[in-house]
Parts: sequence; structure tokens; C-alpha cells
Amino acid sequence: MRIAPLALAGIAAVAVPAIAQRAAPPAPVKVDPAVAKARDAALKDDVAYDIVEGLTTEVGQRLAATEAEARARAWAVVKLKALGFKNVHIETYMMPVWVRGEEKAEIVGPYPQKLVLAALGRSGATPPEGITAPVVYFPTFNDLLAAPDGSLTGKIAFVSNQMKAAQDGSGYGAYGAARFVGPNIAAKKGAAAIIIRSIGSDHGRWPHTGGTNWAPGVTPIPAAALSVADAEQLERIFTRTDKVTLHLTLTPRTLPDAESGNVIGEVPGTDPKAGTIVIGGHLDSWDLATGAIDDGAGVAITTAAAKWLLDGPRPRRTIRIVWFGAEEPGGFGGEAYAKAHATEKFALAAESDFGADNVWRFSTNFPDSAKAIGDRLGVALAPLGIVRSREVAGDGTDVGPLFKLGTAAVDLNQNGIRYFDWHHTPEDTLDKIDIEQMRQNVAAWTAMLWIVANAPEDWDRTTPKGG
Ligand code: ZN
Ligand code: ZN
Repeated sequence: MRIAPLALAGIAAVAVPAIAQRAAPPAPVKVDPAVAKARDAALKDDVAYDIVEGLTTEVGQRLAATEAEARARAWAVVKLKALGFKNVHIETYMMPVWVRGEEKAEIVGPYPQKLVLAALGRSGATPPEGITAPVVYFPTFNDLLAAPDGSLTGKIAFVSNQMKAAQDGSGYGAYGAARFVGPNIAAKKGAAAIIIRSIGSDHGRWPHTGGTNWAPGVTPIPAAALSVADAEQLERIFTRTDKVTLHLTLTPRTLPDAESGNVIGEVPGTDPKAGTIVIGGHLDSWDLATGAIDDGAGVAITTAAAKWLLDGPRPRRTIRIVWFGAEEPGGFGGEAYAKAHATEKFALAAESDFGADNVWRFSTNFPDSAKAIGDRLGVALAPLGIVRSREVAGDGTDVGPLFKLGTAAVDLNQNGIRYFDWHHTPEDTLDKIDIEQMRQNVAAWTAMLWIVANAPEDWDRTTPKGG
């Protein structure tokens, strides 16, 4: 690849003088040699893979607040106790339950054929015999927004914006609106139903489910995601005619509120006044697959890292792992956790919920009294190929409610290039986990935990991201 001279000049103008102009070299950052030792030992970790392999094999799919998630909780308790964690217990809460029904789509005309789709979480239902209606094609989410009120009455909206893969996963936020709020908008414009192109970066025939959101007072309409291949097929048909009729059957149901729960275990610290570190991922999965990357990997990585500290010298701060019981249907686990523990002192919250590929970047959000921790993390994580981001940390559905309370944050960002090929599809299975990349995650989390748990600084609340 040829690099334009201008681009090289640009790099030099930014990077070199910034260092060269310093009056004195920066002081070296002191990191306990024990951190590097633990980090490098964790590169040989087997605990994380053992957890995700066991959970996906022995429990399978784990839709929140169903009997499957209850089995997952029981499995988690046994596993955490066997690993030696202390204070292992379940904290329960009640939540609504949405379950998938029949889901079928067939083009009636002009070219009769079946399409592959999956209902979105909280989708409304068609009658058992389905509906037959004309389809209105919107190439982008913005085109749906521009449709006049009432123009979709009796019709099925089809939104086909195409998500792109990106290392930081930014395509999900940018294109995900078609799923997060597209159905609500179509319902308000009178649509009988909505189908979207899956929010995914693959070209396969597996649909990507995921939750959608209804504003108060809006009656949910049937809402589903076509596989990317089927959405492209439908797009091709729309290049030939704008008169497409679809027969759609979706029969999901909302059941009475049921019990879900967060599973908790601890590495006890020596100084209760220093605040607790909360880390974890979500135990529940969508119902289409065994949730290896979303988010068996996250509970596995964070637990394996905590285990390296459990087996070492007792840390200053208590590390609490939380396997949140219900993230997918709307963050019920994280909300319940923050509500139940709102008055506790937390030193940090961090979650892993983006697969198991390498961590490539980190960011922090500490108050001024603890900002130097970020420099130590930078030194300890660099050998793993992890660079420091300028962004403010504080991402995650499960720990988000703790951030709102002012809890400090560290984000360890994983490479998201492959993640949305399989996210929320029947393809989210164990074979997508690369064990070496998962070990790099465990090493990164181990180093991070070691530094934060033993930090001599004291701090309380920080300013939440965006706050
Ligand atoms: Zn997740
Ligand atoms: Zn998910």
C-alpha cells in the first residue's frame, strides 16, 4: 500500500513534535511487577473456555426469566462455588417474559417464495393465520422517518439499511435504530407490521433477533428481522416492481411476570472501606442459540480473571462478579442490581459483553484523585497490544445503572469485526470462540483488576460519562 506523502507529513506533524517539545521526559510509571506476572500467567488461562464450554453445552440457550435461565443460574452457583469464590448467591427479581411463536414469511406476488426471518423481542403478533399485505420499501431508516403519518396504514414496512462491520462496533449504534425504534415509528405511521434487514455484518441466511422498544401508548405491531440474504433478495425484487405482497405469520406471546436473577460471587478484599469492584457479563441469551459470544464469553472472561486474583495474594478491594440474569430483554438484571445496592460504595464497575476477540483499546473514567490508575493500566496493557483511548469509559447495559450512580469505569474494548456476523443469530455457538484471543481477554482483565483492586488511591464517585 502506498501512503500519500501528505498523510505521512500529517502523522509527523501531530505525533513527533508533541514528544520532542517536552522540556523533560515524562516520569516513568511505576507498576507492581506482580501485575505483569499475573497478566502473563493468565495468557495460559483455561478457566474462561471451561466456563463458556460448560454453560453452552450443559445449559444451552438461556432466555431470561424462563426455566432455561433458572437452570443456568443453578449451573452458575455450582460452578462459582467449585472455583472457590466466596459469598456465592442469587439475587432474584421479577420481569415480563416475551416468548417466540411461529414465524413465517412468504412472498405472495410477484414471485412467490419463502423468506427467512425472526421476530424481534417484544414484537406484537399477527392472528394465527397470519396477515397478507402490500410491502412498502424503505432503503434507509431515514426514509422510514420521512414517510407521512398514516401512509403505512394496512401495509408492511420494509427497512433495509445495511450495517457495516467496524472494529469498535460503531455500525451497531448507527444502523441499529431500524431495530431499536423502527417498529415503534412504523406503528405510529399506521403500519400493520414491519420487517427489517437484520442488524448484522454477514451475508448469511440466519436472521438476527434483538429487542425493540415501544413508546408508552403505542400498540406493538408484528416486527421481525429478515436474514441479510433474504433482505437482499427482497431488495432485488423491488428493483423489478414496487408491488410486492407478503404473507406474514408471527405469533409471539408476552407471559405473566416471572422470576429472573443475578448470580454473584466474590474475591474478598482486605479493606472494606476502599469500595467494591463489580465486574461481569450477562448470563441470559437470546433463544436462537447458546449465546457463546453473547454473552457466555463475558461471564467466562471476567470470572476467569477474578479467579487469578482469588488464587493470589488477597487484594485490597473486594472483587464481586455478577452474572446478570436478564440483559437481552431490556437490562432488567442491571437495573435490579443497582437498585438493590444503591447505597454501597463501589470503586469500579466494568462489563464484558462483546464476544471473545482481542481487547485492542481501553478507556477509563476515574475522579481526579485516581486518574493515575489509567497511566498504570496503559503500561500494564501495552504488551497485550492494547492502546489507550481518549474516550470516556462508561459503556454497558448491565453496569450502566451503576455508572449513573457515579461509579468509576474502565472499558476494555474488544475487536468487533466478526461479532456482528453472528450476534443474536442461531450461529452464536461455541465454535466462534477463538481460545487464544479469549486468553488475551483474561490477561487484560487480570491486569486491570490487579491494578484497580490494589490501588493505594482512594476515591468515591466520579462524573458519569455524558454527565
Ligand atoms: Zn450481550
Ligand atoms: Zn445481545
